[in-house]
Amino acid sequence: MKYYSTNGKAPMANLEKAVVKGLAEDRGLYMPEEIKKLPKAFFDDMPKMRFQDIAFNVASAFFGDDVDLDALQDLVYDTLQFECPVVKVKDNIYSLELFHGPTLAFKDVGARFMARLLQYFLRQGGSVYGCDTAICSTVNVLVATSGDTGSAVANGFLGVEGIHVYVLYPKGKVSPIQECQFTTLGKNITAIEVDGVFDDCQALVKSAFMDKELNQHMKLTSANSINVARFLPQAFYYFNAVAQLIAQGHKPEDIVICVPSGNFGNICSALFGHQMGMPVKRFIASNNANDVFYNYLQTGKYEPKASVQTLANAMDVGDPSNFARIINLYSENGKLSPEETHQRITSLISGCTYNDEQIKEAMRQCYKETGYILDPHGACGYQALVDGLQPGEVGVFCETAHPAKFKEKVDDILGIDVEIPERLAAFMKGEKQSVPMTKDFEDFKKFLLKR
Ligand SMILES: *Cc1c(COP(=O)(O)O)cnc(C)c1O
Repeated sequence: MKYYSTNGKAPMANLEKAVVKGLAEDRGLYMPEEIKKLPKAFFDDMPKMRFQDIAFNVASAFFGDDVDLDALQDLVYDTLQFECPVVKVKDNIYSLELFHGPTLAFKDVGARFMARLLQYFLRQGGSVYGCDTAICSTVNVLVATSGDTGSAVANGFLGVEGIHVYVLYPKGKVSPIQECQFTTLGKNITAIEVDGVFDDCQALVKSAFMDKELNQHMKLTSANSINVARFLPQAFYYFNAVAQLIAQGHKPEDIVICVPSGNFGNICSALFGHQMGMPVKRFIASNNANDVFYNYLQTGKYEPKASVQTLANAMDVGDPSNFARIINLYSENGKLSPEETHQRITSLISGCTYNDEQIKEAMRQCYKETGYILDPHGACGYQALVDGLQPGEVGVFCETAHPAKFKEKVDDILGIDVEIPERLAAFMKGEKQSVPMTKDFEDFKKFLLKR
């Protein structure tokens, strides 16, 4: 499979290059040249299949040309060592619980998959870097995080030979529980505490990839949600969720998938799934107060702005990277006009935006009515279904993180004492180690050049 850039000014890449480079030379995002439709026989069998086998079918369509199938199966099975169950919350609203992985958030899936895929390519000889030994000398993963990305990537890559991870996070804007999940690991993980907001961290990472001198000094790669190896595997659990709903007697044409969104990688993978034939009726992108996508749906104009801090901080993004992918997908790589593209998008995807007060109210109302504990991100998804489901529809929202990851907030809002799962408690016992950094790229560059 070849991958092209959403900006259209970079050469096509193979999968290995798209994974290693993350971002194309023209700063565009990689898109697969073709999105293969899965056969009818697969969809007929899907409700009876195991999660891992559904995922392997989906993975084969995306990666089967470029990765040996036995290795790919291994990789998929290794990634999905936990379930992503669909749990009924009330009436026709279901929670797709994506928090049963190592760091209790959905990003575990893409992070682990990417770590294993990158390792696979390095073991093949790492041809993108021109390595001629069996294992390429250290590859450095740079990742900007507003919370969950950092922990998922750090844990996905922890101990993976030949790869060092730098996690950049905004000082004071990540919950203590999130922070300990990537600052206490040691080994091949370095945490960098940036005096700025998430968008500053993302800008530092983007600048690093564009810097000639730095790239001559060290082998760099990204693990943000822009990377095809991270976002595409997220499609696995949407197919599985649809399979579970069908198995429970729901009709595919009634299913509405609702995704609490920040950088729009997660919903983008669901939309790719839809292009592969995944049978659902429509999608809802739910946002916190960061409403640029919501505004785009209303007006057809995309006007990025600085992010604002909210209760659902992993969604505090003012200029979502994957917006370019969504536009590219529905404009058929620029063939359709902006108006036609907007029309296609709004006929499939609707939007919602909730401020902190509304998020709190959704959490309280849901807990009171059903006993289900939402985290602030999942609450945006839940409320969008409460507000937007039409008669006859069945909605499934992503519960993107375990409520204990945001324990202080959840306890405070619901007046309860959320139990901390053992995996999370283990992180909290570790000692925090991080490198302080300004948001000035020259400082970051100097630091990396000394490594
Ligand atoms: C990353 C994250 C999101 C947003 O996902 P995107 O792919 O960036 O849209 C939502 N909730 C949680 C808990 C997250 O960690």
